[in-house]
Amino acid sequence: MDAYSIWPENTRVRKIEENKFEVLQASVTLTEPTVASLTIPDSPTKVTLLCGDHAAELEKICTNLAEAAKYAANDSQRKFLAEYIESFETGSLDVYRDSQRTWVADKAPKVENIFGFVEPYRDPAGIRAEFEGLVAIADAEETQLLSKLVENSDKFIRRLPWASSENNGKGVFEKSLFEPPDFSSIHALAYCSSIIFPGINLPNYNDIRQDVGFKNVIIANRMTAESTAMQWSFIDESEMEVFQKHKYPAYYWWVVLHELLGHGTGKMMIEKPANNFNFDATSPPLNPLDGKPINTWYKPGQTWTGQFGNLATSLDECRAELVGAYLMDDPELLALFGFTEESTIRASDLTYNLYQQLGVDGLRALSNYNLDSMTWGQAHSRAHFSMLRCLLRDSQGCLKVQHDREAKKLTVIVDRPKIISHGKKALGGMLLRLHMYRCTADVQACRDYYEDLSHVDEECLKWRQTVIANKPPPLLNVQANTFIDGDTVTLKEYEPTIEGIIKSWVERDV
Ligand SMILES: [Zn+2]
Repeated sequence: MDAYSIWPENTRVRKIEENKFEVLQASVTLTEPTVASLTIPDSPTKVTLLCGDHAAELEKICTNLAEAAKYAANDSQRKFLAEYIESFETGSLDVYRDSQRTWVADKAPKVENIFGFVEPYRDPAGIRAEFEGLVAIADAEETQLLSKLVENSDKFIRRLPWASSENNGKGVFEKSLFEPPDFSSIHALAYCSSIIFPGINLPNYNDIRQDVGFKNVIIANRMTAESTAMQWSFIDESEMEVFQKHKYPAYYWWVVLHELLGHGTGKMMIEKPANNFNFDATSPPLNPLDGKPINTWYKPGQTWTGQFGNLATSLDECRAELVGAYLMDDPELLALFGFTEESTIRASDLTYNLYQQLGVDGLRALSNYNLDSMTWGQAHSRAHFSMLRCLLRDSQGCLKVQHDREAKKLTVIVDRPKIISHGKKALGGMLLRLHMYRCTADVQACRDYYEDLSHVDEECLKWRQTVIANKPPPLLNVQANTFIDGDTVTLKEYEPTIEGIIKSWVERDV
């Protein structure tokens, strides 16, 4: 497919018989180009490209997008809607990639959207994507708070573990110019996808991110819904009520820091052809991990995902989670969000709650560990488990896990006075390692460290049994529909039941 310049995201592969395969490409068009043969040199295998996969659904989607275009707020919106339509009609992902460039340029819209074959999480190979559609309304007040953080980003980047006096206090392993992305807090009107994310950082195409940037959105009502849902019971009963009450704000700001200062920071050390380096190769910068000049970097043509392969997504997520957790005790930062020692929820309560969440998330992650293959299927889960592991190993008891096998009970215990002195130190050490391995393309050291840290040993396998025994029912999101009658738009919401979910999909008429 690569040789024929066919992007994989909107395709599926079907095996017809031995040595005979079909690549199905999602598009409305059935005729142009109908069938193309993809030859594989020196192979008896025959592969045919077929268009028109999901044609009926995409046709309805295009009709509705054309309707939406009539109400667009500006030319960029009209342009990306037209590009979505062209891409869904023809199956061309080149046009879709254009739509993503246009979408990034539509800064801070009142009505935000995401459409297309976007996230590859459900593909075991992490390549093909599933279709999703999101329409949301921006929250002006929350977005304003986020802008304050964006304006102050540099100040907090200077407090990350790799910061040093060079580069305006941010150190050599950081970009000199932090380009603040568009960042908004939105409330989903409808978010149709198998995974409903709390925060999104798109597009996923790295070259487009480099060229035109990206957008961050926090889906606030999705997060509120989750914090009122049934929880994992890994907190002592005496603390449960307070834990529940503080969870949402701690989680919200953790996600914000993850997206902005997590995914937004870091400078890769790169060699381009003809001895062109983006760092001083004659006197390479010192690696803070060992104090010696760095001796690895990205050689011409090498990329982060290419070098780190199956670890890349999990490492990226883990690094971003760590940046958020590491900064979540900063009084100045928390004051910016409205939390001081005088506020109703005190700043130190928020920090304490976050460490409890680190414990709960690390345990919860074990439910996504695949026992048969002894592998981590889910990138975020592996990251959360590794962070718990790091705290158990290196924080001198700041975080402990108590296991009562008979009662099938796991309890996370956080020693409040040790958070700053030991917990933060442990997380900072882990963050510095991941950051440096990533910047310097030190694949082997990274693999050794991360595989060891995320290894599920005998004791953790016993925890896993208790985790599974305590699994709350899955979180299901019921999505509203809108109906237009003349000049009136009606919002129809559904009962939070299985019947409600089915009804909402039937009435969505896709
Ligand atoms: Zn992330």
